[in-house]
Amino acid sequence: MNANPRPDGPLWLLAELTYRCPLHCVFCYNPVDYMRQQSEMSTAEWKETMRQSRALGAVQLGFSGGEPLLRDDLEELVAYGHELGFYTNLITSGIGLKPARLEALKAAGLDHIQVSFQDATQAANDALSDTKTFQKKLEIVQAVKAAGWPMVLNVVLHKLNLDHIDAIIELAEKLGVEYLELANTQYYGWAYQNKATLIPTHEQLKHAEERVAAWREKLGNTMKLLFVVPDYFEKTPKPCMNGWAKVFLSIAPDGTALPCQAARMLPGFEFPNVKTHRIEHIWFKSDAFQRYRGDSWMKDPCRTCPDKEKDYGGCRCQAYLITGEAENADPVCHKSPHHDKVVEFVNKAQHHAQQHECKGSNQPDYFKVQKPEHQAQALTTAQPIVWYRNDSNSLHLSPIDK
Ligand code: SF4
Ligand code: SF4
Repeated sequence: MNANPRPDGPLWLLAELTYRCPLHCVFCYNPVDYMRQQSEMSTAEWKETMRQSRALGAVQLGFSGGEPLLRDDLEELVAYGHELGFYTNLITSGIGLKPARLEALKAAGLDHIQVSFQDATQAANDALSDTKTFQKKLEIVQAVKAAGWPMVLNVVLHKLNLDHIDAIIELAEKLGVEYLELANTQYYGWAYQNKATLIPTHEQLKHAEERVAAWREKLGNTMKLLFVVPDYFEKTPKPCMNGWAKVFLSIAPDGTALPCQAARMLPGFEFPNVKTHRIEHIWFKSDAFQRYRGDSWMKDPCRTCPDKEKDYGGCRCQAYLITGEAENADPVCHKSPHHDKVVEFVNKAQHHAQQHECKGSNQPDYFKVQKPEHQAQALTTAQPIVWYRNDSNSLHLSPIDK
């Protein structure tokens, strides 16, 4: 690999329109301090961002959040993305997708909708998101299908719902889903905060993988099943984002440009903002986007590893979260001197599951909502704790003087 090759432009533009969301998922990938990052770009600023990205060659445009439907200008932005020639994708919880909006999105030329479910039953779905949304989601999925989009469902998997894998696939089958994405939790944001409760056991994972294989055989081509194994159970890391600033450009609600959604947590960076810099400058010239391109930044064991062109040393955010240094090899890798920390997380989670006889999300202990008056206690208690993603927990977990 060339040390710092001249990159191509971005292929994928992810527009995180807002961090606002009506749901409070325990595994939410948004930053834990989202309440400290509330400003949002205007319609005109988003359009200009899309225009410049398309001019650099981006072809896929994802609208995400938070919940992108909370933006009143979503239809206008979709229409503009369509006009520019993007393949447009809406990544949504579905909440707020009323028939009139579905029609408007169809007219705007939206190509693809991905709706997320938390689990297969009302009790579990609503507990994991701390909302009463299951019934609404069922209606929304049917409406999306009736409107003629391919039905794409996403379920984030973890210890609390992995044992419901059969029920989840059955639900998807009943709903006529064409593509079911079973994505095991990545431990960033709120999921990292809740990792002791969310990391599954080896047995759960093995069982789920076997069940997915059996369902694939049974379903044939009628429904495509994607099962993404969690990083912590692998021996080598995934090629995170297909390489730092190689194909993926994520724009946070306030216009901060990031090589991945989670990268804002990395210290020592000044991530550029599209309101003050052109995308061309951000992508090709900014320090933040250049820093981990190629392999000249790598330390051993990655620097001399024959696999560095396959996985690019894994994930910088995971390396930082677990080892304290973003330049280290992703500790998921068995060659990393910090791999024992990942093993320790997994072992602790197994122990935690045995101690609390985790039987999945029917276990009420796992859903202790952290109200402000309980928070100090929550930080020290040995009980299983779930931090719901909500405004007061965000402010509590990210104090200003932290
Ligand atoms: S993971 Fe849940 S809380 Fe987070 S943005 Fe998605 S729907 Fe909202
Ligand atoms: S040492 Fe680095 S490049 Fe090699 S497999 Fe591990 S993370 Fe990947």
